[in-house]
This record gives sequence, C-alpha cells and structure tokens, in this order.
Amino acid sequence: MVRYEPQKCRECGRPLKKVPDSEVQCWQVVDIKDGKSFVTEHQRVTKFCPDCGEMSRGDLPNESPWRHARKTFGPAVKSVALYFVGYQLVPVARTQEIMSDLFGVRLSQGTLCNFMSDVSKKLKSWEISVKSQLIRSTILHVDETGIRCAKRGDWAHVVSNESSHFSLIMNLVVQSLRKISGFCLSIEGIS
Ligand SMILES: [Zn+2]
Repeated sequence: MVRYEPQKCRECGRPLKKVPDSEVQCWQVVDIKDGKSFVTEHQRVTKFCPDCGEMSRGDLPNESPWRHARKTFGPAVKSVALYFVGYQLVPVARTQEIMSDLFGVRLSQGTLCNFMSDVSKKLKSWEISVKSQLIRSTILHVDETGIRCAKRGDWAHVVSNESSHFSLIMNLVVQSLRKISGFCLSIEGIS
C-alpha cells in the first residue's frame, strides 16, 4: 500500500500528520512478481485542518497512469498478455485462461483488446519503419489465409523478408497488396 497524505495545511501551514483522515481515494494496480499476482493499493488522503477548516489532499506523483481507473494492470501483466495475444497469436479467450491459470490474474476480453489497442498506438513509428524496410526489399514473402476473427470470416495477410514481418487481419478479400493500409504502394514485380 502506498499512501499520499497532505503534510501541512495548504492554507495556514499547520502540520496534519496527527489529524485523522477525512476521505481516502483508492486505486488498485494488479501486476506479476516472481510468477505470482500482487496488488498495490494507492491511497490519496484528504484531511481538514482543525485550525482553519481548509481541506488538503495528498499530492499524487506526476507519473500515475493508474489514476484513470479504480483497478488497472501493471507492466508485467500487460507485457505477458501481449506476448501471448500479439506474438504467439493465442486467441483472446485462451489468453484469459493462461493468465488466470498461471498467475491468478483475471482479465476481461475488453481489457485484453485495450492492451492491444494501446500498444498498437505506441508502436506506430515502429510499424512505419517495418513497412519501409519491406518496401525496399528485392524479394518479399507474401501470403494470405482465411481466419476466424470475432465470429467472422476474415483474411490474414502477411508480408515478410529475412528480417522483418508485417501481418494484418482484414474482413475483406484484398485483391492486391496495394489496398492493404496503403502498404506497398511502391512495390512492383511478380508475386
Ligand atoms: Zn489550516
């Protein structure tokens, strides 16, 4: 548990250490350590000054990504879950089982999708870099296959060379790579 308490009254400066809490806001962060889940509770304390009656709150750290929801997940939970879903391509429902069975961490499918969406935004510049490398390749591996995604028949497309790999799931049959996210617009040749 981490507590953020006001040390002094923000109005008159009276020390508030011995003043009882008036209100406590709580946020819980679930993460994995040594193969087990653990919860860190962050508590922001509000106190009223006995002298002047002013309300003071504890300061939260500048980096407080957990403050946007009552319960969030830490970096180890996110990275392990993303490894299974994003790299090993394990379905979301089975990743839920893995996280629960191995670590005791219960994740909703919506939370897993949010992890994917968040990391996807952060990796945008990396994605552009990979596409750029692939476009410059003399020889490319290009393939597609049918895939079930969200109870729907979709298409998984893959473009790769010796060092880079880009895959994409679309719900349309794409006749040409030129239509995939504006990808490979400059590729010419035989596939
Ligand atoms: Zn005061």
